[in-house]
This record gives sequence, structure tokens and C-alpha cells, in this order.
Amino acid sequence: MQDYDLFVIGAGSGGVRAARMAAGFGAKVAVAEDRYMGGTCVNVGCVPKKLYVYAAEFGKAFKDARNFGWDGGTPAFDWATLRDNKKAEISRLNVVYENVLAGAKADVIKGRATIVDAHTVAVGGQHYTAGKILIATGGWPHIPEFPGSDLAISSNEVFDLAQFPRRLAIVGGGYISVEFAGIFNGLGAKVTQLYRGPLFLRGFDADIRAHAAQEISKSGVDLRFEVNVQSIAVGRDGLQVLLTDGAIIEVDAVLYATGRKANLEGLGLENVNVEISDAGNIVVDTDYCTSEPSIFALGDVVGRMELTPVALAEGMAFARRQFGGRDDRVDYEFIPTAVFCQPNIGTVGYTEDEARAKFGRLRVFKSTFRPMKHTLSGRDEKTFMKLIVDRTSDRVVGVHMMGPDAGEIMQGIAIAMRAGATKAVFDSTIGIHPTAAEEFVTMRDVWRED
Ligand code: NDP
Repeated sequence: MQDYDLFVIGAGSGGVRAARMAAGFGAKVAVAEDRYMGGTCVNVGCVPKKLYVYAAEFGKAFKDARNFGWDGGTPAFDWATLRDNKKAEISRLNVVYENVLAGAKADVIKGRATIVDAHTVAVGGQHYTAGKILIATGGWPHIPEFPGSDLAISSNEVFDLAQFPRRLAIVGGGYISVEFAGIFNGLGAKVTQLYRGPLFLRGFDADIRAHAAQEISKSGVDLRFEVNVQSIAVGRDGLQVLLTDGAIIEVDAVLYATGRKANLEGLGLENVNVEISDAGNIVVDTDYCTSEPSIFALGDVVGRMELTPVALAEGMAFARRQFGGRDDRVDYEFIPTAVFCQPNIGTVGYTEDEARAKFGRLRVFKSTFRPMKHTLSGRDEKTFMKLIVDRTSDRVVGVHMMGPDAGEIMQGIAIAMRAGATKAVFDSTIGIHPTAAEEFVTMRDVWRED
């Protein structure tokens, strides 16, 4: 007899969802967590990030309001109020997560879990046996080593800085760097974003990347490409950052958002036969099984798509398959995603280059316009929308947008795309007027055609 049917390591999005559902199917479940309930998303990721994005967007909204008749100065921003209110909300969510697991009758074991053998996990000197072990330990920010790298902070620390950084350097060109550049720029800091390549947001559609560079620069971020940090040193008035192009910038903080690595330290993987990829992720099959048949892994630790809703879907598929008698699998095609910069980027499906490689001949539609709100506010901001259509089937295979609420708009578009919507279906859909989203059903003129 084992102590548990399922022992989950890590109470983040994927781990909690898998534990809760497995327990719902009648499995005896334990979850070990040594840090915070809810994992990265709740504590140092999606949730606090979105709260800070809301805070940042007020900055420009106060100015926008003037031409709509609102009079008065721009209110002063107080970092401590935002930070501490955020802390209180996250503490509330930590309790919600505890209650969710308690309600599902899963045991929560506080402490660092180490795998002892294929069916045994140790936490705080106590051994627990389990039929199946699920590793859902997520990822951890990775800062490369260079002179002064210990002076840099990561997204783990940036939320709770004691002082607001009036001057901030951000290194990286992915989701986190772009989102934090927008947050601190909106809150009033002088932000310099440094990216090592010719154009940031690698992996996104080329036109979105170019539009994002233009809009983010216009919004006030000092965006510099083809440059990296050589060293960081403590200067007389803050940190001195020496760049590879010879420039020196003086800032109050340097945020490194240069990717995340699987969180495997101290997990005891040397005691079992779990294969690790060259990139340092746990290798799993389509059912999240590792090369050790009783050990499974999902979410960021496997490094497929590091997104909370993907980890949730994987957790559900795992629980249904292993404990619910169903053969669910996650379909990774047409997963929508958003970057919460200003304005937002929302995207689903293939980039134009990917679509051309996969489908051959395409028809591409685009629209660039000033959002209606800014005809009066006077803000110099442009929305960009793009539809990519497979010429053979007429199916819409890629939709990309940068504009207000792109994240919200893209969720509905993703449903249509998963249902196989063709361009003809988009065209026959009546728009909601006046919205930006209606543009997606009124794009008539082909921009590029193969
Ligand atoms: P990303 O992998 O998205 O981006 C890392 C960036 O850092 C890239 O631009 C990369 O450049 C650059 N980089 C890597 N190594 C170095 C180095 N040694 N020196 C300088 N630059 C370097 O990672 P993030 O940390 O931004 O985010 C991690 C993951 O979290 C994302 O992939 C995403 O899945 C998830 N996330 C999702 C969000 C959302 O859904 N809104 C929000 C935040 C995070 P290059 O392109 O040249 O490799």
C-alpha cells in the first residue's frame, strides 16, 4: 500500500489543477510546496503583473482625459501603495489556493520535496510513498554571469522593490522585458530596454514585432537593439551599466528578463531515471510521462509553452487520463497569447513565415488605424491588425494584433480559429460598431497574396 495515489511536487497552476482534479476522481493526493501557494503566476507572474499593468495605464489615461473635458493635474503616483495593495491581494489568493486544495481533500505538505526513488518523496525528513509522482515545479529566472551580474534583479524581485526605480534598465526582448518596460514607463520611470538582436519579440509575427518597436518607442521607452550589457558597477548615483557599444547608462536598477530555466534544483532527479533535455527541461511523452514510468511532469518544467493556461490544460489532461479513465490530450495548435505591453499584443495561430512554410500560398490582410478614443485624446498611437489566410482552404490560420484590448479580443478569435473558421466566415460575420474588433470582419483588400 502506498501513502498516496498521486504526490504532486509544486503548488503552481499545473500542479494544483492536476491535484484538485485527481482528488475529484477519488485519488488520494498530496501536494508539496516550499515557497508560495499558486506558484509563479499568482505570486511573481501573471497576476501581480496584470495589476501593475492596470496601474501603469492610468498614467496616460489621466492625460487622455483632458480633451474629453476632464480638467486638473495628473495625480502623483505612490509606489508603496501599489506594491502593498498588490501584496494584500496576493496573500488573499494564496489562501484561496490553500482552500481549493483543502476543499478537494488533497493534503498540503509544506517544505522542499526530494525524490528518493521512483515511488518515494521526502519532505523535511519524512518519507511519503506514492503510486505516481508529478513534477510541476515550474521555472526560475535565469540571469547570465558577467561582471556585476549579482547587482541585477529578476522578475522575482521587481514587484517588491523597497524604492521605486526612477531610472530602470531592462535586458531582454521577450514577454517579461517588454511587459515591464511598459509597466515602469507608464508609472513614470525612465526606462531603457536593451535587446541583443536586431528586433525583439523573436517568435512573433514580423509585422507585429516591427509595429511593437515603433509603438513602444513612441510611448517613451528608450528601446535599443543590437546591444547588450558588459558590466554593472555601483556608481556615485546608482548603478553604472557599461554596454557593448561603449555607452554607459546610469540607473537605479537593472532588470534581467533573459528567460527562465526549469526549476530542478534539489529535486533528487539523480536518484531516478528521468531524462533531461539539452535546454535543461524534463523530457516527457504526450501523456507527460518521463522516462521513469511512475514519474510525470508538466507545465513550465517541461518547457513546451510556458503559459499558465497551458499548464492548467496539461494538469487537467493528466488527471483525466491517469485517474478519470479518459484519454484526453492537449492540442497545442491555435493557442492564443497576449503580451500586456501598451498597447497590448494579442496573437493566435501561425506567423506569416510559419504559415507560408506550412500551408504554401497565403492571402494576407492588414489594417493600421488610430483607435477612435485617440482621435479625441490626441495620443499618437496606432493599432495594427493582421489576418493570414491559407489560400487553398480559405481557413484563417494566423491572427495578430497590437492595439487596446488585443488580449481580450483574441480570445474570441481563437475560438473561431479552433472551429476552423474560413475567411468567408469572418466576412459573413456582422461587426459590432464602433469597436476595433469589427475590423477583423471587414478586411476586404488583400495586402499580400502568394
Ligand atoms: P523569453 O524567452 O520570452 O525571452 C528572453 C529574452 O532574453 C529573449 O529576447 C532573448 O533573446 C534574451 N536573452 C536570452 N539570453 C540572453 C543573454 N544571455 N543576454 C541577453 N539577452 C538574452 O523569456 P522571458 O524571461 O521574457 O519570459 C519567460 C517565459 O514566460 C516566456 O517565454 C513566456 O512563455 C512566459 N511569459 C508569458 C507572459 C504572457 O503570457 N503574457 C508574460 C511573461 C512571461 P533572443 O531572442 O535573442 O534569444
